[in-house]
Amino acid sequence: MELHQLLKSQLASLELDAINDNFAVKAAEYRKTNGDYVNYLSELVAAQLTRKIERSVAARVAKAKFPSVKTVEGFDFTFTKSINQKEFRALCNLEFIAHAQNVIFVGPPGVGKTHLATAMGYCACERQLRVLFTTASELIEQLNVAKLTHRLPAYIATLARYPLLIIDELGYMPMTKDDANMFFQLVTRKYEKTSVIITTNKPFSEWGEIFKDEVVAAAIIDRLIHHASVFKMTGRSYRMKAHDIDKKADEK
Ligand code: ADP
Ligand code: MG
Repeated sequence: MELHQLLKSQLASLELDAINDNFAVKAAEYRKTNGDYVNYLSELVAAQLTRKIERSVAARVAKAKFPSVKTVEGFDFTFTKSINQKEFRALCNLEFIAHAQNVIFVGPPGVGKTHLATAMGYCACERQLRVLFTTASELIEQLNVAKLTHRLPAYIATLARYPLLIIDELGYMPMTKDDANMFFQLVTRKYEKTSVIITTNKPFSEWGEIFKDEVVAAAIIDRLIHHASVFKMTGRSYRMKAHDIDKKADEK
C-alpha cells in the first residue's frame, strides 16, 4: 500500500496522469491473467500518449478561437445539395494545407459556409496544425490596430505563419482602400506559402465593391484562386429549416 502511494506521487510529479489513473487497475487485470510485463507497460504508455495528443488538440482548438464546434459528421449533405460532398470530403485529408492551397466558400447566408470552414479547421487541429479563425471585420480591425502601433509587418508575418487561417464573412463589412491594401499584403504574404479558407456572401464579380478598387480586388482574387477549391453554395438557409417544420405543424 505504501509503495502504491509512493508510485502515485512519483507519477504525479512526472505528470504521467494517464498512467497514474490506470496502473493499479491494469496491474490487477494482468495479475489475474498472468499477462506479459512488457504489454502492461506498453498499454500504460499508449494511454499516456493518447492523453498527450488529446491535450494538444484541445489546446489548438482553444487557440484557433472557433465561434463554435462544428464537424463534418454534423453536416447534412442531403440538405445542402449545392456542396459537392465528394470534392469536399477529398479535401478533408488536408493535403491542400501541405500544398499551401486555399478553399473558398461562396454563398448566401445560412447555407453552411461557416460550418464547413470550422469543421475543416477542427480537422486541422486534430492533425496538430496551428489554425486561427477570424472574421473579416475582426481581421481588418486587428490589422488597423497593428498599423497604428507600428507592428503591421510583424502582425502580417504572424498571420502568414499559420498553416491555416480562416477568414469568415468577407464582404459583409465595407472596407476602406487602406483596409483593402492591408488585406492584399496579407494575401500576398500567404500566397504559395500557407493556406487560407475564406467564406463570403459575394461572388468574385462583386469583390471590387468589397475592396473599393477593381484592380486590388483582381490582384487578391488572382492570388487566392490560383491554387484553390471554390465551392459555390446555393439553396435555402438551414436556419429557416426549423421554421419550415413549425409551418408544417401549423398547417396540419
Ligand atoms: P453561413 O455561414 O453560410 O451563413 P452557417 O454555417 O453559419 O451558415 O450555418 C447556419 C447554421 O445552420 C449553423 O448552426 C450550422 O451548423 C447549420 N447548418 C447549415 N447547413 C447545415 C447542414 N447542411 N447540416 C447541418 N447543419 C447545418
Ligand atoms: Mg457564416
